[in-house]
Amino acid sequence: MADPLNVLITGGNRGIGLTIARAFQDAGDNVVITHRSGEPPEGLQGVICEVTDSDSVNAAFSVAEEKLGGPIDVLVANAGITRDGLLMRMSDEDFDAVIDTNLAGAFRCARRASKGMIKLRRGRIIFISSVVGLYGSAGQANYSASKSALVGLARSISRELGGRGITANVIAPGFVETDMTAELPEDLKKTYLAGIPAGRFAFSHEVAAAVRFIASVDAAYITGAVIPVDGGLGMGH
Ligand code: NDP
Repeated sequence: MADPLNVLITGGNRGIGLTIARAFQDAGDNVVITHRSGEPPEGLQGVICEVTDSDSVNAAFSVAEEKLGGPIDVLVANAGITRDGLLMRMSDEDFDAVIDTNLAGAFRCARRASKGMIKLRRGRIIFISSVVGLYGSAGQANYSASKSALVGLARSISRELGGRGITANVIAPGFVETDMTAELPEDLKKTYLAGIPAGRFAFSHEVAAAVRFIASVDAAYITGAVIPVDGGLGMGH
């Protein structure tokens, strides 16, 4: 059996991040999730972290490393937001907030996590993107731009740190039923469903399974990849 991994998942207090956290923990790995307020979910270790703030990220990772008893092997940069709106009406604030959280937040976490990984000479940086990053989505210019930029981030990290046993990959889920997607109007959900070859939305555990594979030793030679978990929605993109 493989040695337990030290795993940190941002935004692991709910939604897809929580499912990913539970999947690693159930497999015997050491897990810390980040959350912004309140208590961590039952049975999970948590640290407070605001990914738009570098000091908060750096402090949270130091506390997480103490809790884990060593450097982080696996970063899952999952925290993300939407601020949807049509291009002409999208405010600077809504554009900036999404880029700052989804893209710059992932960058801040990867930068901090890489310190320990370089010392370890191993590591897995996993960005949770979205099918709409490469497919595009009307009303989500900010979100789609933030998610496609994670590909450039992962590929640059791959080129920079690939020789040190560190991989950086992007997981691109399709539509998953969580708080984030609960906000979408029913008719829009029906339109999305009609375009999905699998004929259904994803279960969050299907995203977690792909993340766990990319974190495993079996995936040591996969880096800079975009792994779809989208029922075929984004095929060819
Ligand atoms: P949720 O809205 O359910 O959860 C989002 C998580 O991100 C929460 O834990 C939230 O913390 C955290 N978060 C948001 N902003 C910040 C911040 N500034 N600092 C720290 N943490 C923050 O989202 P999902 O579970 O649906 O999505 C998780 C990821 O998967 C996101 O990156 C999303 O873009 C992506 N994704 C989701 C899809 C879906 O269909 N649901 C499809 C494709 C990708 P808090 O609880 O404090 O708000």
